[in-house]
Amino acid sequence: MAKKQFKAESKRLLEMMINSIYSQKEIFLRELISNASDAIDKIYYKALTDDSLRFDKDSYFIKVDADKENRTLKIADTGIGMTKEELENNLGTIAKSGSLAFKSENEAKDGHDIIGQFGVGFYSAFMVADELTVISKALGSDEAYKWESKGADGYKIEPCDKDSVGTEITLKIKENTEDEQYDEYLDEYRLKAIIKKYSDFIRYPIKMEVTSS
Ligand code: ADP
Ligand code: MG
Repeated sequence: MAKKQFKAESKRLLEMMINSIYSQKEIFLRELISNASDAIDKIYYKALTDDSLRFDKDSYFIKVDADKENRTLKIADTGIGMTKEELENNLGTIAKSGSLAFKSENEAKDGHDIIGQFGVGFYSAFMVADELTVISKALGSDEAYKWESKGADGYKIEPCDKDSVGTEITLKIKENTEDEQYDEYLDEYRLKAIIKKYSDFIRYPIKMEVTSS
């Protein structure tokens, strides 16, 4: 008899993943920063073989912004961005690691390592956020798109405005509960410490404006 594929309930899987793969909620920031760094790497690699592209070091960075009042945390990068189809395929498929495929393709070229193992990194943001918005403009495209999701019940993609190439991810940070506290992910000093702990080796500048007291 022919082998059959398992069916998976993606909503249940997403919930399970969000609540059990990672032992510490704070690692969502490592995952988002590593994706941002991967996206900049992709431009770096492209520039190696594409003469029309110049990799000017100062133009490539990751920016983290916390807004306590609105309970939002934004992680922006000047990386390669995503087209509408890429938003659909990359953020709509759980546990399909794009960076794994990219890694085996490029590893031979030079020794740079690209992080990302399971293809669930992005969704770890749902450990601390109840809503995610991704605004992205792909290299070579003049259209930008917004991907929005509140987690298990799906996502929405629509056209939007964005001037520069790259990706901006906004997390609507959860309200504190009796058992869990999320305010710390809006605190710039705490965020700095998390970045120092997990993302110190990232090859691109991670900028953060410290505004709160
Ligand atoms: P992985 O990094 O292992 O592929 P993730 O869940 O972390 O898995 O990310 C899924 C995919 O979404 C990535 O492979 C990439 O194609 C895309 N992606 C996520 N964040 C970004 C970003 N900031 N810029 C461009 N693409 C991104
Ligand atoms: Mg990743």
